[in-house]
Amino acid sequence: MAVATAIKVPYVNLGAQYADIKAEVLERIGALLDSGAFILGDELAQFEKSFAELCGTKYAIGVANGTDALFLSLMALGIGKGDEVITAPNSYLASGSSIALAGATPVFADVLDDMNLDPAAVRKAITSKTKAIIAVHLTGRPAHMSELIAIAKEHGLHLIEDCAQAIGAKLDGKHVGSFGTTGCFSLHPLKNLAAAGDGGVITTNDDALATQLLKARNHGMRDRDHSDFFSYNSRLDNLQAAILNVKMRELPRWTERRRAIAGMYQHGLAGVGDLLLPNDRGGERAVYHTFIVQTTKRDALKQFLADNGIDTKIHYPVPIHLQQAAAYLGYKCGDFPVTEKQTATILSLPVFAELTDEQVMHVISSIKAYFAS
Ligand SMILES: *Cc1c(COP(=O)(O)O)cnc(C)c1O
Repeated sequence: MAVATAIKVPYVNLGAQYADIKAEVLERIGALLDSGAFILGDELAQFEKSFAELCGTKYAIGVANGTDALFLSLMALGIGKGDEVITAPNSYLASGSSIALAGATPVFADVLDDMNLDPAAVRKAITSKTKAIIAVHLTGRPAHMSELIAIAKEHGLHLIEDCAQAIGAKLDGKHVGSFGTTGCFSLHPLKNLAAAGDGGVITTNDDALATQLLKARNHGMRDRDHSDFFSYNSRLDNLQAAILNVKMRELPRWTERRRAIAGMYQHGLAGVGDLLLPNDRGGERAVYHTFIVQTTKRDALKQFLADNGIDTKIHYPVPIHLQQAAAYLGYKCGDFPVTEKQTATILSLPVFAELTDEQVMHVISSIKAYFAS
């Protein structure tokens, strides 16, 4: 039964964010169109510099999207045919597909209640063929890095961070993307720092790897006329960088607002029904790309919220190991019980920075009304 109200809460509102920065973005795009500097220009150089500063890494390399950031990292590390790479089955498709695209075999390990990789499960998944772990900071919450770093060291594996959902997230004061061999970011319109289209970034502190990645994104070119190896065209557009340079300045404010909204949910929904809420463990600074609650009443709650003008999502309804695309890997239902249980219980509440307090309170009171009835 719908509570009488006119408040609507969309899941995202990209237009609201744009309204805030419209004049400056249009000015910068105009200047860029006048200049005609579309590929590998100054805006990109500036963006890469400030992105590296943000992450506390030596390099940040703009690429075409987050999937390429992962794929090019694997490729540059020489990971391919006959190799295995371990990642989380509850992540976005690309955490798994990038491994397959590099020619290697995706191997999945189950997650914990917090939706991040279970280090013990990762340890069990290691074989003589394992070359790397892709640690996903899912939902914008740092993965269990100290355990994963220890495992990687012990077995001589590369640790690649999938930071697509976690720009700005920190663990013990250190930024995600600065722990691993590389950090891979997506700038997809729905991510916390968003291009007007596709984009991605690779961070690293490794000089030789950075040189390799700069070539790998640009036809293997060492300079204007010489290519060292055949490679992809996976550059981040200068035009996107111009927009992103404006947004980089606003990112801390947007992130704080996401965290404040998460705090309102955590406070307002504590102890309500059987809800399991995300939280910050000690030393963690999550950026709440998503605010995912878990409840056995998920489907009914989702419908009740929709009836009350609140849009929610499910990230993700089908885990990677059960996708048709992954059938050749031979996984089956039951292989990853925590992931599969969460598939049926997770619900993403709206958490974008432009939500008003009134909208957030409406979500909270509607959820309380559902569990009270
Ligand atoms: C979005 C996302 C990606 C892929 O990024 P694209 O820019 O869409 O290619 C990879 N991993 C995770 C966890 C993501 O959320």
